Amino acid sequence: MQTNISIWEKDSFFAPQDIIIVGGGLMGLWSAITLKEKKHSLRITILEKNITPLGASTRNAGFACFGSPTELLHDAQTLGESTMLSITEKRFKGIEKITHYFPKHEIEYDPCGGYECITNAQFKPDTIHDSIAYLNQLLAPITGTKHTFIRNDAALSTLGLQHFDALIQNKMEAGLHSGKLVQALQMEAVSMGVQILSGIEVTNCLQQNNGVQLHTHQKIVFTAEKVLLCTNAFSNTIATGHTIPVKAGRGQIILTSPIQNLPLHGTFHFDAGFYYWRNLGNRILLGGARNKAFEEETTTSLTTSATIQTALEDFLKTHLHPSIHYTIEQRWSGIMGFTVNHLPYIHFIEPNILAAIACNGMGVALTPIIAEEVADRFIQ
Ligand SMILES: Cc1cc2nc3c(=O)[nH]c(=O)nc-3n(C[C@H](O)[C@H](O)[C@H](O)COP(=O)(O)OP(=O)(O)OC[C@H]3O[C@@H](n4cnc5c(N)ncnc54)[C@H](O)[C@@H]3O)c2cc1C
Repeated sequence: MQTNISIWEKDSFFAPQDIIIVGGGLMGLWSAITLKEKKHSLRITILEKNITPLGASTRNAGFACFGSPTELLHDAQTLGESTMLSITEKRFKGIEKITHYFPKHEIEYDPCGGYECITNAQFKPDTIHDSIAYLNQLLAPITGTKHTFIRNDAALSTLGLQHFDALIQNKMEAGLHSGKLVQALQMEAVSMGVQILSGIEVTNCLQQNNGVQLHTHQKIVFTAEKVLLCTNAFSNTIATGHTIPVKAGRGQIILTSPIQNLPLHGTFHFDAGFYYWRNLGNRILLGGARNKAFEEETTTSLTTSATIQTALEDFLKTHLHPSIHYTIEQRWSGIMGFTVNHLPYIHFIEPNILAAIACNGMGVALTPIIAEEVADRFIQ
């Protein structure tokens, strides 16, 4: 029996739930909304460790990611064409779903299109044409166009970029405001009757005969018929007795001062997605360089490091036209969850505990659709 909890609290905030979702990031929020849509009577509570969600969802770059050509080619090679297409289709549909749910202005959704910058050292110039043709043919049934990717090298200089040899453009990708998206999702979930309790850290989830008991750092014990773990890179600390195959990967970001007449507009990828940048109004947001120090960046520590910050600053100096003047005004990091095969991990780790984690750095567009899979598994 828990002590020092009033009957009022016990019967309301801490009452037994049909589903408790641990983790209030994009995965947890989209799942709560989708579950409610499937069955409105479900009593659902989200338990979030921090005051605001704190992992990847409010710390990312805000790309509604469709996928860059080199990433898709790599996925087709390593995972097979059909798996690559299935995950790309989820992202495509995820972007559509975001725009269906929220007015564009509310989440600062900008259908700016995406670009992949390429150097000859990375990609043999004479193979680009064939690779684009190959991808376009595969992707046409998903995107509804024969020209998902187009080569547009001439745009490099008009966008203020230098020291790249080729540019591939797609119209599918967009930019958005990650904080406003999470806020909008929270409001939507609450309006549907989902309870969100922040500042509650789950320390252990115990499968019982008829449900799950959740112990928390705050010494409050919750019970639910089913539990959904949306704790991404932080999952292994609460799934006692289970090893969840997710590895933390820190992502660091820098943001420039406002730049007068900034020519750059869109979302940009380089080096198989290890560098990514976009305009945020008239500033540039750049993230990545994790491949410069993989081991150091395999961490859940939300700090920044000199190695990565220097690599990011050097990247801007090299690739932005020298006529573009700026200072670095803000720096931050977030934590991603990765699996070995780069596919999300959606598995029952106990009969009543489902883990839905590891969007491998692409959760903005993926989580709305993975949430549907989660809801289907919970409500048959
Ligand atoms: C720097 C960076 C840039 C990125 N850029 C992009 C991008 O441009 N486009 C894109 O699609 N994706 C991007 N991503 C990835 C994307 O943000 C993630 O895939 C997505 O946010 C994952 O959402 P999530 O809900 O699974 O995880 P998270 O957002 O990490 O949420 C997990 C939540 O669980 C909570 N939690 C953890 N442990 C507990 C516990 N014990 N009890 C209670 N709560 C707990 C955490 O506080 C956290 O709020 C980026 C990520 C980073 C770090």
